[in-house]
Amino acid sequence: MPDEPPDRKSKPRPEPRKPHTGDVLHLTRAASVQFLCPIFVRVIRVLDWPTYDGWLWIDGYELAGNGDAVARRSLFVMPAGLIWPDPPAPAAPSPSHPRAREARSGEGRMTRRPRPHQPMRPAWLCRNCAAPWPCAPAQLHLATEFYGHSIALAFYLAANMQDAVDDLYSLGVRPDPRALHARFLGWLSLTRRPRRVDLR
Ligand SMILES: [Zn+2]
Repeated sequence: MPDEPPDRKSKPRPEPRKPHTGDVLHLTRAASVQFLCPIFVRVIRVLDWPTYDGWLWIDGYELAGNGDAVARRSLFVMPAGLIWPDPPAPAAPSPSHPRAREARSGEGRMTRRPRPHQPMRPAWLCRNCAAPWPCAPAQLHLATEFYGHSIALAFYLAANMQDAVDDLYSLGVRPDPRALHARFLGWLSLTRRPRRVDLR
């Protein structure tokens, strides 16, 4: 056996419940900042992707108010923040209700509150200020929400960047990877590290 691992043995913490195929989850801010507007998803499977401690990738269907699957999504969540709602599916506005569409996109809550600075797909412009996402307020918000979890934030932004690349291709646009990387990840303080390439 090689050396003992350096003392990064983290204290054993209680294992959060793990989601399973077929589970319906209520994803709120407790699971990730991206669910500022909570959604319901049906789990297709838990992905075996490399991730940051305390986080998990889930492949799932986002559910509309009536329980229909409206979009397939790869979601980056903290298992500790997952909610298994008691009823099998969200209680719902009927699909024909004019507000159903709003509810589906996570808006149209009862209470009026300022529109969050979240991306509008597939254009990836901010819903609030229409700037390319993550706009400055979104960056501030993310930095606050992920405070002390900068690697998780990087994973989250990288996942969004990948979605943006897919969306751009589907719109017939050929994305510039460098520009996208700068936009999604370039503002992180993680990038402090010297670049290996430039060193010699
Ligand atoms: Zn904005």
